Amino acid sequence: MSEPDPSETLFERIIAREIPADIVHETSTTLAFRDISPQAATHVLVVPKTRYRNVGELAAADPELLADVIATAHRVAELDGLVDGGYRVVFNTGADAGQTVFHVHAHVLGGEQLGFFGRYGDESGAG
Ligand code: AMP
Repeated sequence: MSEPDPSETLFERIIAREIPADIVHETSTTLAFRDISPQAATHVLVVPKTRYRNVGELAAADPELLADVIATAHRVAELDGLVDGGYRVVFNTGADAGQTVFHVHAHVLGGEQLGFFGRYGDESGAG
């Protein structure tokens, strides 16, 4: 972990119930809450309660906890009725990917047909 930064403690403060959030599911190791700026009909963030900066650090340090995050993402999809239609799980990692909060989190997106993703400003390529 690096020097303190308000963005780095935001999700820890949500986990500690110091900041309100629309919580949709909780397990002993993870918390799922709706993104404050949704990019799809369903846009939920899943965070491990133990902080790692990104998914690579999480995978290296605690693969079981990464599996918990994915299992919670799937449970969120079940709760929001996304499993039949399909859904997307995204881990933005680092600046080029647009990661802004350095407490690893999975974005769970679905509930409508999702667009392509990839190169900035280019919607023409395959997603
Ligand atoms: P990322 O850009 O991958 O780091 O994603 C961070 C996400 O956190 C963004 O989609 C934000 O909209 C979301 N976010 C920021 N603040 C809050 C908050 N207080 N409650 C819920 N989601 C938030």
